[in-house]
Amino acid sequence: MKWISDFLDFIFPRHCVVCGEILSSGEKDICINCLVSLPLIDELKRAEVEKIFWGIVPVERATSYMYYRKGSPYNRLLHYLKYKERPGVGVRLAVAAANELAPTGFFDGVELIVPLPLSKKKMRRRGYNQCDYIAEGISLVTGIPIAKRCVQRTVANETQTHKNRDERWRNVQGIFAVKEVEALRGRHVLLVDDVLTTGATLASCAATLVTVGCKVSLFTLAYSSNDSL
Ligand SMILES: [Zn+2]
Repeated sequence: MKWISDFLDFIFPRHCVVCGEILSSGEKDICINCLVSLPLIDELKRAEVEKIFWGIVPVERATSYMYYRKGSPYNRLLHYLKYKERPGVGVRLAVAAANELAPTGFFDGVELIVPLPLSKKKMRRRGYNQCDYIAEGISLVTGIPIAKRCVQRTVANETQTHKNRDERWRNVQGIFAVKEVEALRGRHVLLVDDVLTTGATLASCAATLVTVGCKVSLFTLAYSSNDSL
């Protein structure tokens, strides 16, 4: 069936989401040049990501993979994952991230991957949860199972960026509920999201998981460093 995809590529050339160059047959969504030049966050920044949650919620480990910086063409990867119905971008980036993180011991002891749930309204509008695909990529590399639909978002919170740290935190309290307590009780879970911005929503979900006895680690594909919780 390869000739069909080659033929379709010829008629509808597939382009790299980041640089716009035509992809070769082995590439998907992102070309190899852009893939090796991803703006990855360094060790120092990883420590900063963990600090965001200090004093808010107990977290075992927390990290992000790449930067989400204003005006960067790499942001398109996240836009395609979230709004342009190309969730496969999330799988590919998460595979790359997990391959890099696994040797550091980041996933050691993690028993389940929990994608951050969307509200029902957002899920209906988008048709998929982008975090499910990030979870899938990590699971492919690590073999850790995914626990979908064990946690539910009960309230669709408004945008947080104009609020201060305390307001953000108050605004997201109790917006998640654990649906399957027994599946999660006492487990070490890795909660995954696409972009870490204020961290408030992620912290709220982590706090909910902690109430049923979970140990929680956090992973996001990208980190928007301008505005933290
Ligand atoms: Zn490219």
